[in-house]
Amino acid sequence: MDTSTLSQPSTGASAIESLLKEQRAFFYSGQTLPLSFRKKQLLQLKKALQENEAAIYEALKQDFQKSPFETFVTEIAVLVSEIDFVLKHIDEWAAPKRVASSLLNFPSSDYVYPQPFGLCLIIGAWNYPLHLTIAPAIPAIAAGNCVVLKPSELSPHTSALIKQLTARYFDPRFMTTVEGGVEVSQKLLEQAWDKIFFTGSTRVGKIVMEAAAKHLTPVVLELGGKSPAVVDATANIEMAAKRIVWGKMVNAGQTCVAPDFVLVHEEVKELFLHHLTKYIKEFYGEEPELSPDFPRIVNSRHFERLSKLLERTKGRIVLGGQTDATQLYIAPTVVSGVDWQDALMEEELFGPILPVLTFTDIYEVMHRLQQMPHPLAMYIFTNDKKTEQLLIERVPFGGGCVNDVVVHLANHHLPFGGIGPSGMGNYHGKYGFDAFTHYKAIVKHATWLDVPIRYAPYEGKLSMVKKLVKWIL
Ligand code: NAD
Repeated sequence: MDTSTLSQPSTGASAIESLLKEQRAFFYSGQTLPLSFRKKQLLQLKKALQENEAAIYEALKQDFQKSPFETFVTEIAVLVSEIDFVLKHIDEWAAPKRVASSLLNFPSSDYVYPQPFGLCLIIGAWNYPLHLTIAPAIPAIAAGNCVVLKPSELSPHTSALIKQLTARYFDPRFMTTVEGGVEVSQKLLEQAWDKIFFTGSTRVGKIVMEAAAKHLTPVVLELGGKSPAVVDATANIEMAAKRIVWGKMVNAGQTCVAPDFVLVHEEVKELFLHHLTKYIKEFYGEEPELSPDFPRIVNSRHFERLSKLLERTKGRIVLGGQTDATQLYIAPTVVSGVDWQDALMEEELFGPILPVLTFTDIYEVMHRLQQMPHPLAMYIFTNDKKTEQLLIERVPFGGGCVNDVVVHLANHHLPFGGIGPSGMGNYHGKYGFDAFTHYKAIVKHATWLDVPIRYAPYEGKLSMVKKLVKWIL
């Protein structure tokens, strides 16, 4: 597709309105419907990612000193593998499906037609700035929609790169990027979209839903929360500590599904703390500020927020605690002796600080977690099936793992999404396709027979209809 002659959007209100007009005209032209078109666009997206690997590493490094290893695994590889998975299944997912007919409509053949919504706005967060903006675009494209991306302004290098890449690889009437901060986001949200997919904080999620409600636009909200990790006395304590350190410290704790805090059984607390500190040192060295694998905090606002929380905690800093404003560096930090009233338990931490609380009764843990705002994830470290079942079944949370953290994201067959304050709707794999698809119900009714009972006048038909309904339903 030659994109050279097509204008790229600016961010003024009238420019946004004309962008929507152009996209709507393109959508109604039917060009996004053939599967050949959708597949071509998905392959084009894959090409854009693969041809620009070096530029992606550089943008993420500039934004918060993310290592090429983490960028490859958490930003590029996941997207490419999602594209491959979707390409493998798109024929099956997008095909109209015949379903059983109702005798009430006899003679008919009944179908479900998967249809695109139309124009989709995707607003991304900064913490995995490429992944969280592009991942929802994959199912949006697969389902036959037009897409406008609004990456986060807090990761400006990645945002600029996404804009460049969409301009270079796609027709803007089909998919384009609008860059900007809160004001631009608000202008976009004033428009009548057919679907809005938002990733970000619970606070802004409410603003997005309110704006969407004005047009009755359906939303998917991928939000955050305080995701707990529970470690009971039967768990493999060393493995629990190692995996929790990995999931907490990857991206310097700036991961929506990172374990926010740990609840460890009193009996195994010391052993657990010992292994936590051991693995932090093993992964990042005695001086983590020198480690090329430990990223920085995204900006000074978040740095200040985290530093203040550290100053206010009444817990004991077991490891870390060092901060450096000039580098936006906060050391991997473990704080023990934390209680539920502590400053560190007030809000989602979203940084490399791990508060450790203790418990003795798993039922108390369950009751406590039931009272908390429902988190995006929960992690249960145990070898006791009853504990596992109790927490999975009775504590509300988006999704999670038993004896691991974060990795539930990596399975295309699992839905990813929150519940209540951590979000609504799911994506990944088929769940993503469903999020961007309207399932249209169609009855194709034959004309060779026209059962007269449904037509007025109804006199004398009630008893017959009662018998029919009883027989058919
Ligand atoms: P954020 O809510 O501040 O910003 C997200 C997006 O919303 C940005 O593109 C921003 O420009 C826009 N925005 C900000 N204020 C706005 C306003 N008043 N009106 C309209 N738009 C506005 O979130 P963030 O700081 O980028 O990300 C951190 C949060 O996102 C954390 O809570 C984290 O848990 C959550 N998160 C969730 C997921 C998930 O998949 N569930 C993934 C990553 C991050």
